[in-house]
Amino acid sequence: MSEIRQNPITKDWVIIASERAKRPDDFKELPSHTHLCEYRVDCPFCPGNEKMTPEAILVFPGSLVEGCSSEWSLRVVENKYPALFPQGMIHRKRTGPFYVHMDGYGRHEVIIENPKHNATIGTLPDAQVELIIRAWRARFRELSKNKGVRLITLFRNHGPKAGTSLEHPHTQIIATPVLSSLIRQRMEEATRHLDTYGTCLFCDLLQEEKRMGDRIVMESDYFVVFVPFAPQTSYELWIIPKIHQPSFGLIDDPELADLARTMNQTLGVLYRRLNDPDYNLTLNTPPVQEARQECCHWHIRILPRRGTYSGFELGSGIYINMIYPQEAARFLREGINQGF
Ligand SMILES: [Zn+2]
Ligand SMILES: [Zn+2]
Repeated sequence: MSEIRQNPITKDWVIIASERAKRPDDFKELPSHTHLCEYRVDCPFCPGNEKMTPEAILVFPGSLVEGCSSEWSLRVVENKYPALFPQGMIHRKRTGPFYVHMDGYGRHEVIIENPKHNATIGTLPDAQVELIIRAWRARFRELSKNKGVRLITLFRNHGPKAGTSLEHPHTQIIATPVLSSLIRQRMEEATRHLDTYGTCLFCDLLQEEKRMGDRIVMESDYFVVFVPFAPQTSYELWIIPKIHQPSFGLIDDPELADLARTMNQTLGVLYRRLNDPDYNLTLNTPPVQEARQECCHWHIRILPRRGTYSGFELGSGIYINMIYPQEAARFLREGINQGF
């Protein structure tokens, strides 16, 4: 028998059809990315090919990383083929009574995370992951100052099933002058919870997860990693600050260093136990103008991808998940406890 569960954050439903899964390590049948080489002559993000990208906005020198043979250890550049452009106007226009549109104003940046073409968070030294998150924070804070920007979406696509077009490890940041209905709906649910109970929805959820315990994968000084009650994909993971912190922009240095270790361990266990699966990682943080709202609590979602979505998911907005979250959490927790 399958089960239908509701996500308390989004109120979305998922179907857990565990009979469709073969084993917890079903992912092992999929090819991993371990065949990639350290350098590719035709890769625009590899050292020596800097001219193939727009000029760097931020560069961390190679000297920050022990044994780094490249001049830089991390670079941030504008996307060469951006979805949005900084030159546009932010006022909205109307065509007829229904249709609203505006210039494609915004920012689209790429954080080239490491000089090595085959570097992967999960297998890097913690110090190198810390540099990546430092760059996330620096660009997030800088883009937040821009008056026309309402939402900053930071994400990583790992592997072709997650929609990546370039193998070289990178994070993208897109700053938009508009909010989607998805973000609005999440804000509404969080606000409703705060209005009703006087507490943060995410803090309450975290407390309940800690009380139950069986979906928790690991805990660090500042973060908890768990599989949500109604995950959108098998092995979906959340990394969430233990203390109430509305926006990612508010993270301080000790928290940032702890996040680097936690993320490296979390993605490391996926890499080893699930054979380096394709995944999407999203940083979920409130709209820029609401960065200090009491109802918000930023977090990272990691969504491993086995396949593409079918007509059912696209038509209904209901996702089918094949593994019970507590089983997925146990499988990953064992990996962390046993060091693999
Ligand atoms: Zn490369
Ligand atoms: Zn909270």
